[in-house]
Amino acid sequence: MKYAIIIPDGAADEPQESLGGKTPLQAAHRPAMDEIARLGVVGRSNNVPPSLPAGSDVACLSLLGYNPLEHFTGRAPLEAAAQGIELGAEDWAIRCNLVTIENQTMRDFTAGHISNEEARQLLSTAQERIGSDWLQFYPGVSYRNLLICRGAKKPAPFSRDTRATPPHDLTDKSVVDDHPRGPGSDLLTRLMEQSAELFANHPVNAARREAGKLPATNIWLWGLGRAPRLTAFQELYGVQGTMITAVDLLRGLAALVGWKRIEVPGATGYIDTDYAAKGRFAIKALPHTDLICVHVEATDEASHQGDTAAKIRALEEIDRHIVAPLHEALKKQGDYRILVSPDHPTPIRLKTHNHGAVPFAIAGAGIQADAATTYDEVAAGKSPLAFDDGWRLMGYFLGKAISC
Ligand SMILES: [Zn+2]
Repeated sequence: MKYAIIIPDGAADEPQESLGGKTPLQAAHRPAMDEIARLGVVGRSNNVPPSLPAGSDVACLSLLGYNPLEHFTGRAPLEAAAQGIELGAEDWAIRCNLVTIENQTMRDFTAGHISNEEARQLLSTAQERIGSDWLQFYPGVSYRNLLICRGAKKPAPFSRDTRATPPHDLTDKSVVDDHPRGPGSDLLTRLMEQSAELFANHPVNAARREAGKLPATNIWLWGLGRAPRLTAFQELYGVQGTMITAVDLLRGLAALVGWKRIEVPGATGYIDTDYAAKGRFAIKALPHTDLICVHVEATDEASHQGDTAAKIRALEEIDRHIVAPLHEALKKQGDYRILVSPDHPTPIRLKTHNHGAVPFAIAGAGIQADAATTYDEVAAGKSPLAFDDGWRLMGYFLGKAISC
Protein backbone atom coordinates (compact mmCIF):
# COMPACT_ATOMS: atom_id res chain seq x y z
CA MET A 1 0.00 0.00 0.00
CA LYS A 2 1.24 3.48 -0.91
CA TYR A 3 0.08 6.65 0.79
CA ALA A 4 0.16 10.27 -0.43
CA ILE A 5 -0.64 13.42 1.48
CA ILE A 6 -0.92 16.87 -0.10
CA ILE A 7 -0.94 19.85 2.26
CA PRO A 8 -2.04 23.14 0.69
CA ASP A 9 -0.92 25.28 3.62
CA GLY A 10 -3.59 27.57 5.04
CA ALA A 11 -5.96 26.77 2.17
CA ALA A 12 -9.08 26.64 4.35
CA ASP A 13 -10.91 29.96 4.24
CA GLU A 14 -14.25 31.75 4.49
CA PRO A 15 -16.87 32.72 1.91
CA GLN A 16 -15.68 35.83 0.04
CA GLU A 17 -17.97 38.64 -0.99
CA SER A 18 -15.74 39.22 -4.00
CA LEU A 19 -16.36 35.61 -5.07
CA GLY A 20 -20.14 35.79 -4.78
CA GLY A 21 -20.10 34.03 -1.42
CA LYS A 22 -17.74 31.20 -2.44
CA THR A 23 -14.58 30.27 -0.59
CA PRO A 24 -11.31 30.38 -2.56
CA LEU A 25 -11.38 26.55 -2.69
CA GLN A 26 -14.91 26.59 -4.11
CA ALA A 27 -13.96 29.25 -6.63
CA ALA A 28 -10.86 27.38 -7.80
CA HIS A 29 -10.97 24.95 -10.73
CA ARG A 30 -9.96 21.80 -8.80
CA PRO A 31 -11.08 18.68 -10.68
CA ALA A 32 -8.41 16.44 -9.11
CA MET A 33 -9.36 17.37 -5.54
CA ASP A 34 -13.04 16.93 -6.41
CA GLU A 35 -12.27 13.49 -7.85
CA ILE A 36 -10.86 12.42 -4.48
CA ALA A 37 -14.04 13.73 -2.83
CA ARG A 38 -16.19 11.84 -5.31
CA LEU A 39 -14.28 8.55 -5.01
CA GLY A 40 -13.88 8.75 -1.25
CA VAL A 41 -14.85 10.78 1.79
CA VAL A 42 -14.80 14.42 2.81
CA GLY A 43 -14.59 15.49 6.42
CA ARG A 44 -13.17 18.12 8.70
CA SER A 45 -10.52 18.12 11.37
CA ASN A 46 -9.18 20.58 13.88
CA ASN A 47 -5.42 20.56 14.08
CA VAL A 48 -4.91 23.34 16.61
CA PRO A 49 -6.23 22.95 20.16
CA PRO A 50 -7.66 26.23 21.52
CA SER A 51 -4.85 26.53 24.09
CA LEU A 52 -2.07 26.52 21.47
CA PRO A 53 -1.10 29.17 18.89
CA ALA A 54 -2.69 28.77 15.44
CA GLY A 55 0.24 28.13 13.15
CA SER A 56 1.80 25.58 10.84
CA ASP A 57 4.02 24.31 13.66
CA VAL A 58 1.19 23.03 15.87
CA ALA A 59 -1.11 22.25 12.95
CA CYS A 60 1.40 20.20 10.98
CA LEU A 61 2.49 18.29 14.08
CA SER A 62 -1.20 17.28 14.40
CA LEU A 63 -1.51 16.54 10.73
CA LEU A 64 1.47 14.19 10.95
CA GLY A 65 -0.36 12.32 13.71
CA TYR A 66 1.21 13.64 16.91
CA ASN A 67 -0.88 15.13 19.73
CA PRO A 68 0.40 18.73 19.97
CA LEU A 69 -0.84 19.06 23.55
CA GLU A 70 1.71 16.39 24.47
CA HIS A 71 4.53 17.14 22.06
CA PHE A 72 4.56 20.78 20.92
CA THR A 73 7.41 22.81 22.44
CA GLY A 74 7.60 25.74 20.00
CA ARG A 75 8.23 26.55 16.36
CA ALA A 76 11.89 27.42 16.58
CA PRO A 77 13.07 23.98 17.80
CA LEU A 78 11.45 22.44 14.71
CA GLU A 79 13.29 24.86 12.46
CA ALA A 80 16.55 24.20 14.27
CA ALA A 81 16.07 20.50 13.50
CA ALA A 82 15.52 21.42 9.84
CA GLN A 83 18.85 23.23 9.72
CA GLY A 84 20.66 20.41 11.44
CA ILE A 85 21.37 22.56 14.51
CA GLU A 86 21.86 20.25 17.48
CA LEU A 87 19.90 21.25 20.57
CA GLY A 88 21.01 19.96 23.95
CA ALA A 89 18.50 19.34 26.74
CA GLU A 90 19.18 22.81 28.23
CA ASP A 91 19.20 24.74 24.93
CA TRP A 92 16.39 26.98 23.73
CA ALA A 93 15.74 27.81 20.09
CA ILE A 94 14.12 31.19 19.37
CA ARG A 95 12.71 32.25 16.01
CA CYS A 96 14.45 35.43 14.87
CA ASN A 97 12.50 37.15 12.09
CA LEU A 98 13.90 40.10 10.22
CA VAL A 99 10.98 42.53 10.08
CA THR A 100 10.10 46.04 8.97
CA ILE A 101 8.59 48.19 11.70
CA GLU A 102 7.66 51.74 10.72
CA ASN A 103 6.07 54.28 13.07
CA GLN A 104 5.67 51.48 15.65
CA THR A 105 3.61 49.49 13.15
CA MET A 106 4.47 46.02 11.79
CA ARG A 107 4.77 47.00 8.15
CA ASP A 108 6.17 43.63 6.97
CA PHE A 109 7.01 40.49 8.95
CA THR A 110 9.37 39.41 6.13
CA ALA A 111 11.39 42.64 5.74
CA GLY A 112 10.42 42.65 2.07
CA HIS A 113 11.35 38.98 1.65
CA ILE A 114 14.94 39.95 2.32
CA SER A 115 17.60 37.86 0.55
CA ASN A 116 19.59 35.13 2.31
CA GLU A 117 22.84 37.06 1.83
CA GLU A 118 21.46 40.30 3.27
CA ALA A 119 20.01 38.39 6.21
CA ARG A 120 23.37 36.70 6.78
CA GLN A 121 25.15 40.06 6.94
CA LEU A 122 22.64 41.54 9.39
CA LEU A 123 22.80 38.49 11.64
CA SER A 124 26.57 38.51 11.54
CA THR A 125 26.49 42.09 12.84
CA ALA A 126 24.01 41.03 15.53
CA GLN A 127 26.28 38.14 16.55
CA GLU A 128 29.34 40.43 16.82
CA ARG A 129 27.60 43.14 18.82
CA ILE A 130 24.90 41.47 20.93
CA GLY A 131 25.64 37.74 20.50
CA SER A 132 27.97 35.52 22.52
CA ASP A 133 28.77 31.85 23.18
CA TRP A 134 25.52 31.86 25.12
CA LEU A 135 23.38 33.62 22.48
CA GLN A 136 24.09 32.39 18.95
CA PHE A 137 22.44 33.81 15.81
CA TYR A 138 21.94 31.33 12.95
CA PRO A 139 21.02 32.60 9.48
CA GLY A 140 18.32 30.51 7.77
CA VAL A 141 16.23 31.30 4.71
CA SER A 142 15.37 34.94 3.98
CA TYR A 143 13.60 36.51 6.98
CA ARG A 144 13.37 33.18 8.83
CA ASN A 145 16.38 32.98 11.13
CA LEU A 146 17.15 31.58 14.57
CA LEU A 147 18.69 32.59 17.85
CA ILE A 148 19.90 29.71 20.04
CA CYS A 149 20.35 30.18 23.76
CA ARG A 150 22.94 27.61 24.90
CA GLY A 151 21.58 26.79 28.35
CA ALA A 152 24.49 24.51 29.22
CA LYS A 153 26.83 27.54 29.26
CA LYS A 154 24.52 29.59 31.48
CA PRO A 155 20.94 28.69 32.38
CA ALA A 156 18.33 30.02 29.93
CA PRO A 157 15.87 32.37 31.66
CA PHE A 158 12.82 31.09 29.75
CA SER A 159 9.99 28.74 30.67
CA ARG A 160 6.91 27.31 28.99
CA ASP A 161 5.13 30.45 30.19
CA THR A 162 7.33 32.78 28.15
CA ARG A 163 5.09 34.28 25.47
CA ALA A 164 5.89 36.29 22.36
CA THR A 165 3.54 37.26 19.53
CA PRO A 166 4.25 35.91 16.03
CA PRO A 167 5.00 38.94 13.83
CA HIS A 168 2.64 37.69 11.08
CA ASP A 169 -0.20 38.19 13.58
CA LEU A 170 0.72 41.87 13.82
CA THR A 171 0.70 42.85 10.14
CA ASP A 172 -0.40 46.50 9.85
CA LYS A 173 -0.91 46.61 13.63
CA SER A 174 0.82 48.59 16.36
CA VAL A 175 3.67 46.80 18.11
CA VAL A 176 3.84 49.24 21.03
CA ASP A 177 2.05 47.03 23.53
CA ASP A 178 3.23 43.75 22.09
CA HIS A 179 6.35 43.01 24.06
CA PRO A 180 7.22 39.44 25.12
CA ARG A 181 5.76 38.35 28.46
CA GLY A 182 6.81 35.93 31.17
CA PRO A 183 10.20 34.54 32.28
CA GLY A 184 13.13 35.88 30.23
CA SER A 185 10.94 38.34 28.33
CA ASP A 186 13.13 41.27 29.38
CA LEU A 187 16.08 39.64 27.59
CA LEU A 188 14.05 39.17 24.40
CA THR A 189 12.80 42.76 24.50
CA ARG A 190 16.30 44.12 25.08
CA LEU A 191 17.76 42.19 22.13
CA MET A 192 15.02 43.44 19.82
CA GLU A 193 15.60 47.03 20.89
CA GLN A 194 19.36 46.68 20.45
CA SER A 195 18.88 45.25 16.96
CA ALA A 196 16.94 48.39 15.94
CA GLU A 197 19.99 50.51 16.84
CA LEU A 198 22.40 48.13 15.09
CA PHE A 199 20.34 47.95 11.90
CA ALA A 200 19.31 51.64 11.62
CA ASN A 201 22.33 52.66 9.54
CA HIS A 202 23.53 49.22 8.48
CA PRO A 203 24.97 49.13 4.92
CA VAL A 204 22.46 46.39 3.98
CA ASN A 205 19.57 48.67 4.86
CA ALA A 206 21.16 51.72 3.23
CA ALA A 207 21.38 49.72 -0.02
CA ARG A 208 17.82 48.42 0.34
CA ARG A 209 16.41 51.92 0.88
CA GLU A 210 18.42 53.15 -2.11
CA ALA A 211 16.83 50.38 -4.22
CA GLY A 212 13.34 51.25 -3.00
CA LYS A 213 13.07 48.07 -0.90
CA LEU A 214 11.82 47.74 2.67
CA PRO A 215 14.66 47.81 5.23
CA ALA A 216 15.02 45.16 7.96
CA THR A 217 14.55 47.51 10.89
CA ASN A 218 14.54 44.90 13.70
CA ILE A 219 14.84 41.33 14.75
CA TRP A 220 11.57 39.95 16.15
CA LEU A 221 11.99 37.08 18.63
CA TRP A 222 9.20 34.51 19.16
CA GLY A 223 8.28 30.81 18.87
CA LEU A 224 10.84 29.74 21.46
CA GLY A 225 11.17 26.30 22.97
CA ARG A 226 13.38 23.35 23.77
CA ALA A 227 13.73 20.37 21.43
CA PRO A 228 10.73 18.02 21.43
CA ARG A 229 11.37 14.30 21.77
CA LEU A 230 9.15 12.49 19.27
CA THR A 231 8.75 8.75 18.77
CA ALA A 232 9.66 7.85 15.19
CA PHE A 233 6.68 7.82 12.82
CA GLN A 234 7.60 4.36 11.55
CA GLU A 235 7.60 3.01 15.08
CA LEU A 236 4.21 4.61 15.83
CA TYR A 237 2.42 3.91 12.54
CA GLY A 238 4.53 1.25 10.83
CA VAL A 239 4.97 3.38 7.71
CA GLN A 240 8.11 5.03 6.29
CA GLY A 241 7.42 8.64 5.26
CA THR A 242 9.07 11.12 2.91
CA MET A 243 8.54 14.90 2.92
CA ILE A 244 8.70 17.39 0.09
CA THR A 245 8.56 20.99 1.29
CA ALA A 246 10.37 24.30 0.87
CA VAL A 247 9.70 25.41 4.44
CA ASP A 248 12.18 24.81 7.25
CA LEU A 249 9.46 24.16 9.79
CA LEU A 250 8.20 21.17 7.81
CA ARG A 251 11.74 19.97 7.11
CA GLY A 252 12.32 20.04 10.85
CA LEU A 253 9.16 18.12 11.63
CA ALA A 254 10.12 15.52 9.06
CA ALA A 255 13.58 15.20 10.58
CA LEU A 256 12.20 14.86 14.10
CA VAL A 257 9.73 12.10 13.19
CA GLY A 258 12.33 10.22 11.15
CA TRP A 259 11.01 10.89 7.64
CA LYS A 260 13.25 11.18 4.62
CA ARG A 261 13.34 14.56 2.92
CA ILE A 262 13.58 15.40 -0.75
CA GLU A 263 14.73 18.84 -1.87
CA VAL A 264 13.08 19.97 -5.11
CA PRO A 265 14.89 22.53 -7.26
CA GLY A 266 12.60 25.48 -7.94
CA ALA A 267 10.52 24.94 -4.79
CA THR A 268 10.52 28.37 -3.15
CA GLY A 269 7.96 28.25 -0.32
CA TYR A 270 6.28 31.13 -2.12
CA ILE A 271 3.58 31.68 -4.75
CA ASP A 272 6.15 31.47 -7.55
CA THR A 273 7.13 27.90 -6.57
CA ASP A 274 7.63 25.23 -9.25
CA TYR A 275 4.46 23.19 -8.65
CA ALA A 276 5.11 20.78 -11.51
CA ALA A 277 8.58 19.96 -10.20
CA LYS A 278 7.09 19.09 -6.81
CA GLY A 279 4.59 16.79 -8.52
CA ARG A 280 7.32 15.10 -10.58
CA PHE A 281 9.60 14.54 -7.59
CA ALA A 282 6.71 13.11 -5.55
CA ILE A 283 5.95 10.58 -8.27
CA LYS A 284 9.63 9.71 -8.62
CA ALA A 285 9.81 9.06 -4.86
CA LEU A 286 6.84 6.68 -4.78
CA PRO A 287 8.74 3.43 -5.42
CA HIS A 288 11.17 4.27 -2.60
CA THR A 289 8.78 5.17 0.24
CA ASP A 290 5.51 4.04 1.83
CA LEU A 291 4.15 7.56 2.23
CA ILE A 292 4.93 10.70 0.25
CA CYS A 293 3.86 14.06 1.67
CA VAL A 294 3.90 17.21 -0.47
CA HIS A 295 3.56 20.47 1.41
CA VAL A 296 2.92 23.71 -0.50
CA GLU A 297 3.23 27.04 1.28
CA ALA A 298 1.93 29.21 -1.59
CA THR A 299 -1.73 29.20 -0.50
CA ASP A 300 -0.77 30.45 2.96
CA GLU A 301 1.48 33.18 1.54
CA ALA A 302 -1.33 34.40 -0.73
CA SER A 303 -3.60 34.70 2.32
CA HIS A 304 -0.94 36.60 4.26
CA GLN A 305 -0.94 39.09 1.41
CA GLY A 306 -4.72 39.24 1.37
CA ASP A 307 -4.58 38.26 -2.31
CA THR A 308 -7.68 36.21 -3.23
CA ALA A 309 -6.75 35.79 -6.89
CA ALA A 310 -3.27 34.52 -5.99
CA LYS A 311 -4.77 32.03 -3.53
CA ILE A 312 -7.14 30.64 -6.16
CA ARG A 313 -4.27 30.45 -8.67
CA ALA A 314 -2.11 28.58 -6.17
CA LEU A 315 -4.92 26.09 -5.46
CA GLU A 316 -5.39 25.49 -9.19
CA GLU A 317 -1.66 24.94 -9.71
CA ILE A 318 -1.59 22.46 -6.81
CA ASP A 319 -4.60 20.63 -8.22
CA ARG A 320 -3.25 20.45 -11.77
CA HIS A 321 0.45 19.86 -11.18
CA ILE A 322 0.54 17.90 -7.93
CA VAL A 323 -2.76 16.26 -6.95
CA ALA A 324 -3.77 15.17 -10.46
CA PRO A 325 -0.50 13.55 -11.63
CA LEU A 326 0.25 12.03 -8.23
CA HIS A 327 -3.21 10.44 -8.03
CA GLU A 328 -2.82 9.04 -11.56
CA ALA A 329 0.58 7.58 -10.65
CA LEU A 330 -0.86 6.01 -7.50
CA LYS A 331 -3.67 4.35 -9.45
CA LYS A 332 -1.14 2.72 -11.79
CA GLN A 333 0.99 1.12 -9.09
CA GLY A 334 -1.58 -0.82 -7.03
CA ASP A 335 -3.29 -0.24 -3.68
CA TYR A 336 -3.09 3.31 -2.38
CA ARG A 337 -4.69 5.98 -0.25
CA ILE A 338 -4.52 9.71 -0.93
CA LEU A 339 -5.29 12.57 1.47
CA VAL A 340 -5.66 16.28 0.79
CA SER A 341 -5.76 18.51 3.85
CA PRO A 342 -4.59 21.98 4.80
CA ASP A 343 -2.99 22.33 8.22
CA HIS A 344 -5.08 25.28 9.46
CA PRO A 345 -7.30 28.02 8.02
CA THR A 346 -5.60 31.23 6.91
CA PRO A 347 -8.57 33.50 6.18
CA ILE A 348 -7.82 36.25 3.66
CA ARG A 349 -9.91 38.56 5.83
CA LEU A 350 -7.44 38.16 8.71
CA LYS A 351 -4.23 37.80 6.63
CA THR A 352 -3.07 35.32 9.26
CA HIS A 353 -3.57 31.79 10.59
CA ASN A 354 -6.65 30.98 12.59
CA HIS A 355 -8.04 28.25 14.81
CA GLY A 356 -10.86 26.18 13.39
CA ALA A 357 -11.71 23.20 11.23
CA VAL A 358 -10.10 22.41 7.88
CA PRO A 359 -11.67 20.28 5.15
CA PHE A 360 -9.99 17.01 4.16
CA ALA A 361 -10.64 14.43 1.45
CA ILE A 362 -9.46 10.83 1.41
CA ALA A 363 -9.80 8.24 -1.34
CA GLY A 364 -8.33 4.83 -2.02
CA ALA A 365 -8.32 1.21 -0.92
CA GLY A 366 -11.02 0.36 1.61
CA ILE A 367 -12.51 3.87 1.70
CA GLN A 368 -16.25 3.73 0.97
CA ALA A 369 -17.51 6.76 -0.97
CA ASP A 370 -19.78 9.14 0.93
CA ALA A 371 -22.26 11.62 -0.53
CA ALA A 372 -19.72 14.43 -1.10
CA THR A 373 -18.87 15.27 -4.70
CA THR A 374 -16.72 18.35 -4.11
CA TYR A 375 -13.76 19.14 -1.89
CA ASP A 376 -14.37 22.36 0.01
CA GLU A 377 -15.33 23.85 3.36
CA VAL A 378 -19.07 23.57 2.73
CA ALA A 379 -18.97 19.87 1.82
CA ALA A 380 -16.75 19.23 4.85
CA GLY A 381 -19.14 21.16 7.09
CA LYS A 382 -21.99 18.83 6.11
CA SER A 383 -19.98 15.65 6.67
CA PRO A 384 -20.57 13.44 9.73
CA LEU A 385 -16.84 12.60 9.63
CA ALA A 386 -15.04 15.01 11.97
CA PHE A 387 -11.89 14.87 14.09
CA ASP A 388 -11.91 17.38 16.95
CA ASP A 389 -8.43 16.06 17.79
CA GLY A 390 -6.88 16.53 14.37
CA TRP A 391 -3.92 14.27 15.18
CA ARG A 392 -6.27 11.27 15.07
CA LEU A 393 -6.86 11.79 11.34
CA MET A 394 -3.50 10.15 10.54
CA GLY A 395 -4.58 6.94 12.27
CA TYR A 396 -7.82 6.95 10.29
CA PHE A 397 -5.96 7.63 7.03
CA LEU A 398 -3.47 4.82 7.62
CA GLY A 399 -6.11 2.51 9.10
CA LYS A 400 -4.04 2.28 12.25
CA ALA A 401 -5.30 4.14 15.32
CA ILE A 402 -2.73 4.73 18.04
CA SER A 403 -3.26 5.92 21.60
CA CYS A 404 -1.01 8.96 21.51
ZN1 LIG B 1 0.47 26.62 7.83
